[in-house]
Amino acid sequence: MFERVNPATGEKLDAIAEMDDAAVEATLARAQSTFREWRVSSLDTRTALLGRLADAFEADKRRLAEIATREMGKTLKSSIAEVEKCAAAFRHYAEHGPSFLEGEDVAVSKGSARTRWLPLGPVLAVMPWNFPYWQVVRFMAPAIMAGNVGLLKHASITQGVAAALEEMVKKAGGPDGLFQNLAIKSDAVEKVIADKRVVAVTLTGSEGAGAKVAETAGKHLKKVVLELGGSDPFIVMPSADIDKAAEQAVTARIQNTGQSCICGKRMIVHADVYDAFAAKFFEAMKAVKAGDPMDEESDMGPLSSFDQRDTVLDQLGRMKKAGATLEFGGEKLDSPGAYMSAGVLTGVPRNADVAREEVFGPVAMLFRVTDIDDAIALANDIPYGLGSSVWTNDSGEQDRFERDIAAGMTAVNQMLASAPEAPFGGVKLSGYGRELGPWGMYEFMNMKTVMLP
Ligand code: NAP
Repeated sequence: MFERVNPATGEKLDAIAEMDDAAVEATLARAQSTFREWRVSSLDTRTALLGRLADAFEADKRRLAEIATREMGKTLKSSIAEVEKCAAAFRHYAEHGPSFLEGEDVAVSKGSARTRWLPLGPVLAVMPWNFPYWQVVRFMAPAIMAGNVGLLKHASITQGVAAALEEMVKKAGGPDGLFQNLAIKSDAVEKVIADKRVVAVTLTGSEGAGAKVAETAGKHLKKVVLELGGSDPFIVMPSADIDKAAEQAVTARIQNTGQSCICGKRMIVHADVYDAFAAKFFEAMKAVKAGDPMDEESDMGPLSSFDQRDTVLDQLGRMKKAGATLEFGGEKLDSPGAYMSAGVLTGVPRNADVAREEVFGPVAMLFRVTDIDDAIALANDIPYGLGSSVWTNDSGEQDRFERDIAAGMTAVNQMLASAPEAPFGGVKLSGYGRELGPWGMYEFMNMKTVMLP
């Protein structure tokens, strides 16, 4: 069984049954037989389904959002925004998918050649709880457009969202077996990856889960895309608009109660503007209101679970032990829910192991640097390389950051956010492969070369 707890109240939600072996077998068989039909479906059929899915998500956004908020605690307004973003992704692939699938002519010395994009088959998606709709839809929408079929192994705590996703595809007229929820726990994933009917796997989640899934996929020679953790730098240089940077730094850190892979987690500020930035940043972080996620006035809800809060509190304890100062916040709130206050750490020793960990909660690390070289060195001194946000109005500095920050994404004078049109992904231990845009779709396609006389 999947036991579920509302992290805002500590109350138990209804448990959800796990699939047994026979149900998993039936799901895989359905995926295989649906793929035989879907792979040759017309592009019009696919774009029409994506359009209906977009409409259905829009129309049902409040109900869908409430399921997510109850299960993992994000504010209802952010759950609604997430569902709306899913609708935008469906529309993006409905509108641009056919052109992404056009082949290209290739110049060859004899005869002619072109490419043709073909789907691969049933793809397994192992997904996390933090953006329980968006992470899945950014896989599902291009998969449907490509002619693949999807199998979802969602996080244990968001099984209600998982069921809702399958139901939405059916309601929108998707054929049985096009997108199915595999209600299984992580110990059952290996067998699914090994199954001959599953052709590839994508995982969004932690480094540990990524390594395990990649190992199994490697053993069976199956393609993998990994979207893993990050500890993104948020760098502020003297020429930046400090007010705007400080304001956005708060949102970048506390969005989703600090539980986003691309949260700005390490604020790296040039010494010339450190005091000015810190004063504004501290004030705005102190004003962050943690509270009932259903309440419009709350800036953030609880952490997704009591375990998740314990993990963050343990990290803060180890930071302090290593010599850091918790300036304020980072404390449990007096409530039955898994709440904690937003906080800021200073004086984190750069060489401490804990300084290189991802903090998946609303507490920022603030660092002072002497110049751009120091900023880049510190930005890169982590095992991750997902996103980054840099604040400078100096074009030479912008160019240095774009070139030298070892990350999959760099946002200039704005906090980093994903967009359906732009590639999303990381380097180093943040994983490999890209999602979104045409690039995300091509990850699970066969680019066939057609040679002609
Ligand atoms: P997680 O524990 O790795 O879980 C992610 C998914 O993997 C869940 O479905 C989980 O199932 C499953 N899983 C865990 N261990 C597994 C194993 N050994 N074999 C197969 N599957 C396994 O991560 P999380 O705590 O849910 O999410 C937080 C992490 O995800 C953070 O590090 C965050 O940065 C990262 N993330 C990355 C991105 C990105 O796009 N790069 C986006 C969002 C989040 P159970 O729930 O049943 O354990």
